[in-house]
Amino acid sequence: MSEKRSNFPLPLSSVTASGAPRTQGAHKTVVATPQTATRNAAVSAVFAPRPPQSPLPPPAAPSFNPRPATLAAPRPDMMVSDAIRRAMVQRVAKQGVADPVVLGALDTVPRHQFIDQALSAQAYIDASLPIGHQQTISQPYIVARMIEVMRNGAQLGKVLEIGTGCGYQAAVLARVAREVYSIERIKPLHELAKSNLRQLRIANLRLHYGDGMLGLPQAAPFDGIILAAAGLEVPHALLEQLAIGGRLVAPVGERNQSLQLIVRTGKAEWTRETLESCHFVPLRAGTI
Ligand code: SAH
Repeated sequence: MSEKRSNFPLPLSSVTASGAPRTQGAHKTVVATPQTATRNAAVSAVFAPRPPQSPLPPPAAPSFNPRPATLAAPRPDMMVSDAIRRAMVQRVAKQGVADPVVLGALDTVPRHQFIDQALSAQAYIDASLPIGHQQTISQPYIVARMIEVMRNGAQLGKVLEIGTGCGYQAAVLARVAREVYSIERIKPLHELAKSNLRQLRIANLRLHYGDGMLGLPQAAPFDGIILAAAGLEVPHALLEQLAIGGRLVAPVGERNQSLQLIVRTGKAEWTRETLESCHFVPLRAGTI
């Protein structure tokens, strides 16, 4: 272990835990994917009468240009209305995500455009859904929660996401950060994300095909790093590419995973905090 790593990881007892651990209950599964065990109870809520709504803030980043409604012929799934997306956001807020900037961003990204049309009816339930190649689009709650933890109420500069998948979280990130980089190791998914995101014309987002475990040294340091896949530990290269004061949020573990927040507090110092339990697809080395 190099000298630089000698202060990491700190014993968990030496860092403060914020927020009670969240245990996800088993719910009736809609689509059998690793992440769908989480919060599928929300399915019925989509079509339930809406609770009184509190106003959401306006979109955060000026550089994001959602596709004007007039540009393309509406897909059949355009019947998914803004109101249903807003109901999803309200549910995410109810589950504890409080950051208005994150909720506002979630409210503006058309999740149905990131999934197969056959699954459109499920686009706004709070569950992960299959996107092919044994991967999933993350559930909206966890997307929002991770960004909230990374943001910590501050304006984000440069951010790196490991695991682009279909590109949904990258689009949400681009609403809250000045500059976003996202890496995917599966070529067809990288291509899928490119085509999904092209129509949204997001100027501050760069997609890379590669092994995210190596990070993106040419763009480092990052103010925030999010991993959308779970490893047994956070790759050292990513810790090194975090700016001092930067925050990294990652699922860690195999079958029992938990969300971890790592903050770089000095040149060779990081703190680690374990948050709630979660379930992500595995982080894998190399590209395919
Ligand atoms: N961010 C996505 C979630 C995608 S699922 C969303 O918006 O919903 C996680 C993704 O991480 C998968 O596509 C998987 O291929 C990718 N992945 C796993 N290990 C990786 C690595 N080492 N580098 C880059 N991507 C990786």
